Amino acid sequence: MRLVNPRWILLAVFIFTTPLAAKNRNGELAPPEVKKQQDALMKAMIEGNKRHASHRTLKSGLSKIMVVSCADSRVPPEVIFNMKPGELYTNRAFGTIVDKVILGSLEYGAEILDCRVLVVLGHTKCTALKEAIGEHAHPRTEWASLNKKSLYEQLEPAVAEVEESNIHLKAQTDKELEGEALLDAVVKSNVLHTMHAIREQSPLLWQLEQDDLLRIVGAVYNMETGKVEWIKE
Ligand SMILES: [Zn+2]
Repeated sequence: MRLVNPRWILLAVFIFTTPLAAKNRNGELAPPEVKKQQDALMKAMIEGNKRHASHRTLKSGLSKIMVVSCADSRVPPEVIFNMKPGELYTNRAFGTIVDKVILGSLEYGAEILDCRVLVVLGHTKCTALKEAIGEHAHPRTEWASLNKKSLYEQLEPAVAEVEESNIHLKAQTDKELEGEALLDAVVKSNVLHTMHAIREQSPLLWQLEQDDLLRIVGAVYNMETGKVEWIKE
């Protein structure tokens, strides 16, 4: 009797035990178009980087300006301020907020890079704050992600402040901020809250500001006009 080659047995075991495609955490296959989309996105980055590498100009020196801004892809600070790589030290998070890691990053910028200006840059039509307004009106009781919960907890004070003054406004004038006007007020309030958080949670940055070695300013980028409005405190 002819024996079966053990290598064929191994190959058969491998074929029958290897899934045809990776399954996600729910045990379901991701739609095939998602993989195609991911491949196209990777290709766009690789091709874009090739173009960048072929005609980049090396710039010496480091930025003296720090920016805290939203992660929204439509508001890149370098484009808004018409600056080149190396001119801005940017720290971005959804909703223009700071946490311990971002504050540490800012302290590094101020102390080691000698940055002299820190801009907290909000923007009109901010999706994060629009979501936060909805969350304030209809707070959810259960969160699938605690990370998202802490994000909204940080945005909530700016929303609550505007909604509270809205109640007074309605009592006095029978009018209240709604829609875009409400969002604009929350965006501005959120910039001020983030500036306050920086001063309160980073004694180092606060001291540098007190010593006039660092200027902390707030601003809102208008996505329709392209103009930056500087906030007077
Ligand atoms: Zn935003």
